[in-house]
Amino acid sequence: MSRNIVIIGSGFAGMMAALGASRLRHEKGVSPDELAITVVSPAPEMVIRPRLYERNPEQMVAPLAELFAATDIDHRQGSVETIDSAASTITVVAADGASATLPYDRLVLAAGSDGFAPPIPGLAEFGFAATQLDEAVALDRHLHALAEKPASAARNTVVVGGAGFTGLEFATEMPGRLSEILGEDADIRVIIVDRSEHVAPAMGAEPRPFIEERLRALGVETRLNVGIAALDKGGVTLGDGERIETSTVIWSGGMRASPLTAQLPAERDNLGRIVVEPDLRVPEAPHIFATGDTARARTDAAGNYAAMSCQHARRLGAFAGHNAAADLLGEPTLPYDQPVYVTCLDLGPDAAIFTRGWDSQVQITGAQAKAVKKEINEVWIYPPAAERTAAYENVLAARTIDF
Ligand SMILES: Cc1cc2nc3c(=O)[nH]c(=O)nc-3n(C[C@H](O)[C@H](O)[C@H](O)COP(=O)(O)OP(=O)(O)OC[C@H]3O[C@@H](n4cnc5c(N)ncnc54)[C@H](O)[C@@H]3O)c2cc1C
Repeated sequence: MSRNIVIIGSGFAGMMAALGASRLRHEKGVSPDELAITVVSPAPEMVIRPRLYERNPEQMVAPLAELFAATDIDHRQGSVETIDSAASTITVVAADGASATLPYDRLVLAAGSDGFAPPIPGLAEFGFAATQLDEAVALDRHLHALAEKPASAARNTVVVGGAGFTGLEFATEMPGRLSEILGEDADIRVIIVDRSEHVAPAMGAEPRPFIEERLRALGVETRLNVGIAALDKGGVTLGDGERIETSTVIWSGGMRASPLTAQLPAERDNLGRIVVEPDLRVPEAPHIFATGDTARARTDAAGNYAAMSCQHARRLGAFAGHNAAADLLGEPTLPYDQPVYVTCLDLGPDAAIFTRGWDSQVQITGAQAKAVKKEINEVWIYPPAAERTAAYENVLAARTIDF
């Protein structure tokens, strides 16, 4: 009897889940007719979200159709609107609006995350975000359109809300991007605002001096211990009353898991992620595995949890897909673990900082770390070659090899 695994999402976790399931199916000599694997997403492609702060964001997409064909994975174009875990079905809405019900034997939820926008007056109307491709493209168009406007303080000033990883990467990229657009002579200001006492608050003290030095070198100003209180057409007002004239506010104030997580009868954390079992199964809906940015998963015995990162999403996906297939094929499922955690934070045109461990021990900085960041962004996080052996090696490595 034919059975099927349905995977929602073709991002880092969804692609890896599909490859992980396909690899085990192949290893066990099971045919695609006996066990079908279907990825449902708006297009058979992966958005390289970690690169959305860079120039030409419209190019940050990797095709997946050939990879899926090479590994006997079906792609169904559409967006999932509902998950009925009691009936084991999902509803898929295609681009033309047609709605269809799709049954599943095992479901992998890999629908990722969206930016979190708090109810700050004017944020929805006047702010930009760049956590999704369309948002990053809209921001890039806006930046280029600034060149058509007469020079003014507002035109030349970018305010970044949030001094976490993505906020810092945007803020340190902006001086270069803006001077290319507005000219070297433009009096460009980039200001990063955060309620925290320090930039990169999640990284602790050790990397801070280098990050602060890079901000100073690039002329990026900081406003700390203060939030953005309101936005309007001409600028922002901070919580302490300071007014900054700006046409560009980039909001980088955190992420929330896909709203599909709310449709499952499951415990969720403060980021909306589903609290999963060690094999990434949803305890209350055991035919569903949650992965990537939708899962709150423990990485190690020390009690650390996966971050919303592609580093974790790739490995979580590889485990979830393997386990969904294992569950249907009568094989034991594997407990997810990821003992090694590293970060590589981009800090402008010629520097980055690479840290190891949850306590962010600095390993390398400057041009050497920048070379690592380029390798990560331009090679490591891209899909493997569209060829079965390479794809299976890639997904196995994602599950087994530590940095
Ligand atoms: C600007 C930026 C910079 C970042 N930098 C880094 C970094 O340096 N390092 C790092 O590790 N991480 C970084 N991240 C985080 C990283 O991109 C995410 O953690 C990662 O993309 C999560 O992978 P995922 O597969 O869970 O979700 P995603 O990559 O978001 O993929 C989700 C998939 O689900 C699909 N989908 C969503 N909803 C539906 C639906 N209803 N129906 C069907 N399909 C759906 C989407 O189209 C997509 O294919 C960054 C993120 C951003 C935005």
